[in-house]
Amino acid sequence: MRIDLHTHSTRSDGTVPVTDLVKEAASAGLQVIGVTDHDTASGWDEALAAAREHGVGLVRGMEISTTVEHRSVHLLGYLPDPQEPTLAAELERIRGGRDGRLPQMLSQLSEAGYPVTAEDVAAVTSPGAVPGRPHVADALVARGMVGDRDEAFATLLDTGLAGYVGRYAPDVRVAIAAVTAAGGVSVLAHPRGRGSGEVLTDEVLASLAAAGLGGLEVDHQDHDASDRADLRALADELGLVRTGSSDYHGTGKKNHELGCNTTDPEQLERLLDAAARSSAASGRETPAYLPPA
Ligand code: AMP
Ligand code: FE
Ligand code: FE
Ligand code: ZN
Repeated sequence: MRIDLHTHSTRSDGTVPVTDLVKEAASAGLQVIGVTDHDTASGWDEALAAAREHGVGLVRGMEISTTVEHRSVHLLGYLPDPQEPTLAAELERIRGGRDGRLPQMLSQLSEAGYPVTAEDVAAVTSPGAVPGRPHVADALVARGMVGDRDEAFATLLDTGLAGYVGRYAPDVRVAIAAVTAAGGVSVLAHPRGRGSGEVLTDEVLASLAAAGLGGLEVDHQDHDASDRADLRALADELGLVRTGSSDYHGTGKKNHELGCNTTDPEQLERLLDAAARSSAASGRETPAYLPPA
């Protein structure tokens, strides 16, 4: 069974609509897919309908923007009740912060000689998605000012560069607690990836496990062989679930094809068990896992 638990659609910064994402997963020979758009559950209903149609198993999730010591850290929240008030409020605040900084980003870019407009950004943002840096990057590409998303980040949008503006994100412990209260289970996304690798030391990961973290994304394109070996050992030591995923963004991220990393079926079972325990403890009405047909 091939299982890919971390993918993005046009509901955030992926380039493929949810329905097509699920269809592509089926074509790629995946039996189970996790749909995990940034800071939103808005694609879940569409994902469920498409998963039923194509016989693909579905784990509904989200990738929450958080921080540790002011560094960006991404937390995957699987199967929480998105209506739970604390979680819903955090997601709303994160999305509002992303949206609210856009004028400042555009004015800084303009000053730096890259006059993209809000209309340019809107033109590359799908209806209902909140425009973040990836959309600003796409607008810069559409205007021919840079070659691709990667170049936009490397030259203008990464932390500290001319077009960079910070935004609200909760401490990762706050987000873990919110996912747990909402009856879901949390997994740290690409913990040794860019940015988060420096702050997520073994000690911090141990403290997050004690704070309710459920798993680590071990197999991810941002991790080399030695990162993966370290994380695998650490997950086992801490009793955490180990996942592997593509972090697919359509054409928005190179070298992240669907199924390029996968999660072992036994690890998915453990994740679902943890989610079931969390759901029962929370008393919330959480989304069910849809098994493959
Ligand atoms: P934002 O939340 O608006 O600051 O945008 C963050 C998103 O941009 C992340 O979720 C990634 O998908 C994407 N991203 C961040 N850094 C890079 C980078 N260096 N190259 C390409 N995409 C990036
Ligand atoms: Fe992204
Ligand atoms: Fe991420
Ligand atoms: Zn992601």
